[in-house]
Amino acid sequence: MTLNENDKKIILDSIRDIPDYPKPGIIFKDITTLLNNKDAFKLLMDHLELRYKDYNLDYIAGIDSRGFIFGAPLADRLGIGFVPVRKKGKLPSTTICEKYELEYGFDEVEIHLDAFNEQKDARVLLIDDLIATGGTAVASAKLVKDTKVDLVEVCFLMNLDFLKGVPKVEKIAPVYSVLEI
Ligand code: AMP
Repeated sequence: MTLNENDKKIILDSIRDIPDYPKPGIIFKDITTLLNNKDAFKLLMDHLELRYKDYNLDYIAGIDSRGFIFGAPLADRLGIGFVPVRKKGKLPSTTICEKYELEYGFDEVEIHLDAFNEQKDARVLLIDDLIATGGTAVASAKLVKDTKVDLVEVCFLMNLDFLKGVPKVEKIAPVYSVLEI
């Protein structure tokens, strides 16, 4: 179940491009103008609910931090639990972590060891706002799989296709992007 071209355009038009943020040469896709547009936000959430309502999911896992904004309300709409995948040092209980490479240096994402209530084979959807190089999503997908649950799909609102992140994630789980950029 994908979105029709007209609805895609409404959502895409609600996202603002900020050139040279956070550094020269990057065009930052600013979703704050989607979030404060009640019609565009509802259109997106209705679409995600319709797509995933028959996936028999048990949890949505959201990637820090914009994955939380879409993941938590989607979990609530589907009547299932929400699990945050966080940047290192933010989760208070026992965690497992995964390192990934940035342009300069490394970063780490973490998940609580008992995030999915030790429910082996729980059906999980992982979500974030945007995939660029795929580093964050690959590390997050590996973490989810390390907890032994079933990672059913990884969902992005936007795929920056030219950065070729999706094929890296597809080695771990199926990928769905609402908008191809
Ligand atoms: P990456 O690990 O390179 O796939 O980067 C993905 C993460 O960085 C996501 O959590 C995005 O929210 C953020 N990100 C990367 N590039 C952009 C961009 N051009 N606009 C907005 N967010 C971005």
